[in-house]
Amino acid sequence: MRGAVLYGPRDVRFEERAAPTIIKPTDAVIRMSATCVCGSDLWPYRGISPIAGPTPMGHEYCGIVEEVGREVISIKPGQFVIGSFFASDNTCPHCHAGYQTSCQHKELVGGAQAPLLRVPLADGTLVATAVVPSDDLVPSLLALSDVMGTGWFAADAANVKPGAKVAVVGDGAVGLLGVLSAKLMGAGRIIAMSRHPSRQQLAREFGATDIVTGRGEEGVARIKELTDGVGADAVLECVGTQEAIVQAIRSTRPGGSIGYVGVPHGVELNGQEMFFAHVRLHGGPAPVRRYLPALVDMVLKGRMNPGKVFDLTLPLDQVAEGYRAMDERRAIKALLRP
Ligand SMILES: [Zn+2]
Repeated sequence: MRGAVLYGPRDVRFEERAAPTIIKPTDAVIRMSATCVCGSDLWPYRGISPIAGPTPMGHEYCGIVEEVGREVISIKPGQFVIGSFFASDNTCPHCHAGYQTSCQHKELVGGAQAPLLRVPLADGTLVATAVVPSDDLVPSLLALSDVMGTGWFAADAANVKPGAKVAVVGDGAVGLLGVLSAKLMGAGRIIAMSRHPSRQQLAREFGATDIVTGRGEEGVARIKELTDGVGADAVLECVGTQEAIVQAIRSTRPGGSIGYVGVPHGVELNGQEMFFAHVRLHGGPAPVRRYLPALVDMVLKGRMNPGKVFDLTLPLDQVAEGYRAMDERRAIKALLRP
């Protein structure tokens, strides 16, 4: 089969690779219905996160089960399944607590930008739908694999409650779906921070009530202004830079919460500032598996359409163009069809 392999900065190739097979008896192999490029794929693509050598790319997936190992019980060939970017057993203490991305047996799922994918710990990792969904639902179901699950976790970790005043830092796909998540959780006011007209438009469609274009201190001042000088009850930090996390902390009211899901790069927090800020910080790699059953149900019932975040659809063999378009911010998120 052919799949995406990153060789170095801005060098993604679609090339022949060995097709995945069952290695452990708890594995499944799935045939991809759709996959996509993640904002986090851009860190190695831009050379900011080094890679050891040629690396198969992609960790967002949904598709039809081709084959399962002999110890797999609940997942069966022919089922349509979705899973998270970390495989998890869903039975250990951390999984039971709802933190499957800290599973004692977690394994990264990689190489999803390909027609076939091996998923470890299939019973714990994959969620199957009752019937194979219609093709028009595939983008929204794929979004649950990472980006929507991560936006949902950001909102949950920021403790969004009905009526809450929420601010979202970051207008990438996760930030935009953080807006949608806050809306579905009943937020009263949702302030999206964005400078890009097309992203502002989608943020409004997803439920943003206000758009703030300023960054840094200017952005903080505007959020204070919009919240009567108090600060937001809940702030979703969906970027991962020093500027973004400081902006999130300073935009939060005393007693408020921040959900941070941007993978930190070069972030250092000041102990004194944290002490006097009086805010809660919770975040990390989103335990998408915890939310998958409920989010799948919401998509199947038509209660949300997170697939709108894909504003570019390409055949899988044009994966390199998907990276370029996202790198240059011409696209919010690229969907790839094998
Ligand atoms: Zn576990």
